[in-house]
Amino acid sequence: MATADVIVVGGGISGLAFAWKAGQAGKKVRVLERDARIGGCLHSHRRPDGYWFEMGAHSVYNSYGAFLDIAVGAGVAGKIIQRGPARGRFGLLRDGDYRWLTPPKVLLQLNWLEAALSFPAGIFRKKDGETVYSYYSKLVGRRNYDRVISPFFAAVPSQKADGFPLEGPGSLFKKRPRREEFVKSFGFDGGLQLVCDAAARSQGVEVETGAAATRVSRAGGEYAVTTADGRTLTAPVVAVAAPPDQASALLRDDFHELSTAVSRVGTVQVESVGVVLPRERCWMPECAFLVPVDDLFFSAVTRDPFPDPRFRAFAFHFKAAVPRADRLRRVSEVLRIPEAELGELVERRTLLPSPALGHGEIVAEIDRCLAGGKLALTGNYFAGLAIEDCVLRSNDEWRRVNSS
Ligand SMILES: Cc1cc2nc3c(=O)[nH]c(=O)nc-3n(C[C@H](O)[C@H](O)[C@H](O)COP(=O)(O)OP(=O)(O)OC[C@H]3O[C@@H](n4cnc5c(N)ncnc54)[C@H](O)[C@@H]3O)c2cc1C
Repeated sequence: MATADVIVVGGGISGLAFAWKAGQAGKKVRVLERDARIGGCLHSHRRPDGYWFEMGAHSVYNSYGAFLDIAVGAGVAGKIIQRGPARGRFGLLRDGDYRWLTPPKVLLQLNWLEAALSFPAGIFRKKDGETVYSYYSKLVGRRNYDRVISPFFAAVPSQKADGFPLEGPGSLFKKRPRREEFVKSFGFDGGLQLVCDAAARSQGVEVETGAAATRVSRAGGEYAVTTADGRTLTAPVVAVAAPPDQASALLRDDFHELSTAVSRVGTVQVESVGVVLPRERCWMPECAFLVPVDDLFFSAVTRDPFPDPRFRAFAFHFKAAVPRADRLRRVSEVLRIPEAELGELVERRTLLPSPALGHGEIVAEIDRCLAGGKLALTGNYFAGLAIEDCVLRSNDEWRRVNSS
């Protein structure tokens, strides 16, 4: 007998958004999450004294309509808090020199002669088939791009974004309608993970943490999910919402073509270090984030947009392969606090998709393999990495498997 109507592998926002939709449709949903904590990249580190900060995703907007639907439906919209003035300030760190900027002042960092010479040729370029680098380096000039634009773009997906497709699947920025009843840029009191927690408690949804899936296979007319502790769970609908390396491995035996298509998605590893300091020990002006040029890390995101009278927090997102000792040394240098006095460190490793030109074809191939079945695949490697992209993909996948 089937374990549930729907099994979801992965308890990040993609998996929980799928579970939320299925639960709202009256289905009995079982979510298997490998870690002890749900949320995946929505990782709000919460201390026993009530202070929290974001170790992963940090910024959401009123253009995230599908994400807001879950927040409203799951009863946590009342926890929405507006981001304060620090959201519009950031630091640019180059060769030990810190500049504190607001968005218009970033433009002053450009070499205007180079920009003026490049702009007329760049402005009329078609965006189709371009990468972030090929398009913007022609628009503002290559040196401007390398010196100013590239580090800012890298801070968004915590990796160099030069090779990302400019448009279509895998692109970074998308225009979406705003829901004007909500403030433009906001967070949740307790962190973004609150939305995942609420979805996990919602109607029909049961979450098992510490439950790693090892294989997804066919079982008669249904699907079977094998777990690391040797159980086999079955359901007529299964959604795989794990990162692409895991998804590909889970599907390898019974869905070889699909697994191969997923394995073509490029990925990078991000190593994050979070630090909380008493406010009086911080030298840095309040800002949303720090963007370094040619450094070991891509960004340091602060909790300053939600100021606290006692503490400030900093989440540094490092390039892969930077040894831990070097990460901690750099955190200590930037914060100007001896390593021994950094206090409790929060550390996480994340595998993120790294889409390149041709990503749209990989997504189309995955969708071709999925067509006609009740196996769903969702995550941040379809339309894009943004939380809203994940929720929209989950909604589309739920619609597809529920209507066929
Ligand atoms: C540092 C950082 C900052 C970001 N900032 C923003 C931002 O400000 N705004 C924004 O919109 N987006 C942001 N993003 C991107 C966004 O947060 C992610 O793309 C999105 O949350 C991914 O959700 P997901 O559910 O697809 O994947 P994940 O969050 O990776 O969740 C996948 C889940 O699957 C579980 N899992 C893996 N393998 C198995 C298995 N075998 N069995 C069971 N479970 C398994 C994992 O433990 C994990 O919980 C950021 C990402 C990072 C890393």
